Amino acid sequence: MTEPTFATLVSRWYEENARDLPWREPGVGAWAILVSEVMLQQTPVVRVLPAWRAWLDRWPDPAALAADPPAEAIRMWGRLGYPRRAVRLRDCAVAIVERHGGAVPDKLDQLLALPGVGTYTARAVAAFAYGQRHPVVDTNVRRVVSRAVAGEPDAGPATRPADLVACEELLPLEPAAAALASAAFMELGAVVCTARSPRCPACPVESVCAWRASGQEAPAGPTRRPQRYAGTDRQVRGLLLGVLREATGPVPHQRLDQVWSDDVQRARALAGLVTDGLVEPVGGAAFRLVGDGPATPLPLP
Ligand code: SF4
Repeated sequence: MTEPTFATLVSRWYEENARDLPWREPGVGAWAILVSEVMLQQTPVVRVLPAWRAWLDRWPDPAALAADPPAEAIRMWGRLGYPRRAVRLRDCAVAIVERHGGAVPDKLDQLLALPGVGTYTARAVAAFAYGQRHPVVDTNVRRVVSRAVAGEPDAGPATRPADLVACEELLPLEPAAAALASAAFMELGAVVCTARSPRCPACPVESVCAWRASGQEAPAGPTRRPQRYAGTDRQVRGLLLGVLREATGPVPHQRLDQVWSDDVQRARALAGLVTDGLVEPVGGAAFRLVGDGPATPLPLP
């Protein structure tokens, strides 16, 4: 009897131990999976869960989102962070309606051509929504492959074509099994082979892991300092967006001036929001979320 492959070991473990997440349930459609993948890229699962449910309650398909202005997408995005993702997701919904009759395409090249859908997201949707065989390589997968196969404690900083090749070589040939293995690799990296505290004794591939076999100590993990938030332009952008999200239409400049006392920094943050396509000026003395409501500024509080 031959030894189980790396993918088989991880897939078996996944079937027993995968977290119970709603976008993994049978029958969840490609749109719901696409939304989850976009939200999860820079936001932890626990914060994505309520936002994902609320988003799909309101916009159960791309056509529903495409029919609303970008402002509503930004508003619903709330405090998930990196709100350009909301606008790009709406742009994506519009493209799906215009190019594909409202159905998320199942071909990789068509997915890659959608706004805001990159190498990772396109392959994740093709694999998890349509059961296709593609290497789905996020930071967690790169770390698992780097340790288990190459014996390196951590992967390099960027996703490279070589990562796709290394991951694809591990996938079973049968598409459904490959899609399962892709989900399993991601899960293993997220909950067992973590950056700072890999739990090797609990790992299904401990017996074949090159890094474990090398006898090296647990890696210290990436030495990333927590990003400072207080006092940054990001904080100011968040405060400005918070006011604009609460409003239903244009907000007078004077109201926005109240959120931050540093005129230069506030102006820079506001200009950044405009450049990023999240906010637009109205009539020279007010701003609103892109495409939001009537063109009359709200009265000052
Ligand atoms: S044995 Fe340890 S280092 Fe190797 S893949 Fe598993 S958790 Fe990661």
